Amino acid sequence: MTILSLHHIFKKYSQAPEYAINDVSFDVKEGEILALVGESGSGKTTLLRLIAGLEHPESGSISLSGQVIVEGRESVPAHERQVGMVFQDYALFPHLTILENVKFGLQKFKGDKEKKVRETLLLVGLKEDFNKYPHQLSGGQQQRVALARAMAPNPKIILMDEPFSNLDAMLKDQVREEIRQIIKKTGVTAILVTHDTRDALSTADRIAILHKGYLQQIDIPKMLYEKPVNPYVANFFGKRNEILATPTAEGFYTPFGFIKDKKAGDYKGKVKLLFRPEHAEVVQNDDQQLIGTIFKVSYFGDHQIVKIADEEGKRISIRTNPGRTFEGIEKAFFYLWKYDVEEAF
Ligand code: ADP
Ligand code: MG
Repeated sequence: MTILSLHHIFKKYSQAPEYAINDVSFDVKEGEILALVGESGSGKTTLLRLIAGLEHPESGSISLSGQVIVEGRESVPAHERQVGMVFQDYALFPHLTILENVKFGLQKFKGDKEKKVRETLLLVGLKEDFNKYPHQLSGGQQQRVALARAMAPNPKIILMDEPFSNLDAMLKDQVREEIRQIIKKTGVTAILVTHDTRDALSTADRIAILHKGYLQQIDIPKMLYEKPVNPYVANFFGKRNEILATPTAEGFYTPFGFIKDKKAGDYKGKVKLLFRPEHAEVVQNDDQQLIGTIFKVSYFGDHQIVKIADEEGKRISIRTNPGRTFEGIEKAFFYLWKYDVEEAF
């Protein structure tokens, strides 16, 4: 069931030369975690603020739970939207305690506010003294308070802007999983903004990718990674190699050798073979395979990247296990076990 729909949203800031959001439409399903990704300035925060009612679009409409909350210039005010927002800097009130910060969101709540606050703080796993002030808490704890404040009034959707950006790498892996569990436990729908593809791939049910205010693709993580709709999306999710090849009825001629593949018969002119570093494998000496010159081997602890050059010096990257040694080896044999073919021109 769809809970949030955006239809043809355009947004331009008054001083800006270009639109920050260009004709963006998508749906979010109830209970889903959608990650909104894109580089800095792509419009992620703007889109969250439009949904929350903190900005207004030039045109387009938004509905939440079947209610139209934005229709062109007309809109339901932010405080009546039942949207919970967690800001990038958490935006906690410094002069209020944990308890008071969370209670702040419950001004219109009918029922036992004190009880609701404690329940929500337990839900987000905060075990600190609730009478502490924000400056007495770590970044991770402040984030939980901000999440509790947003969740306490039972919003229809939670919007989180870069929730992991202020956490160091070690803490991040843990917090990412915890946040996902908290959200899933309550069944609330969430949109989570991040510029980190690893966060998005591991946390989200689906991912929407923005570039210059345009929505590029929205799909499950596996599809974005394996079936990107354009080069921008492909490269955003990590390295993708390209080899220029000439098709014949039997296969592809490449600068690294010949690849037997009947599929080549479907193509006329030059093509590009596209594959990710983990979709190729370096193998033992074998004249059935492709061959190139080892240019560089980089060790990353849990894997290595071997850069292999063709005769003109054009390089590709292949991922291998960390235990392999390439010392004293000049040529590498490899094969591609998965690749896409695209017409080159
Ligand atoms: P992101 O969150 O993806 O980094 P933003 O939504 O913050 O991107 O910004 C999108 C574009 O809108 C950028 O070009 C940014 O400079 C511009 N922008 C954001 N906020 C304002 C503002 N208040 N006034 C003018 N331009 C803005
Ligand atoms: Mg932002």
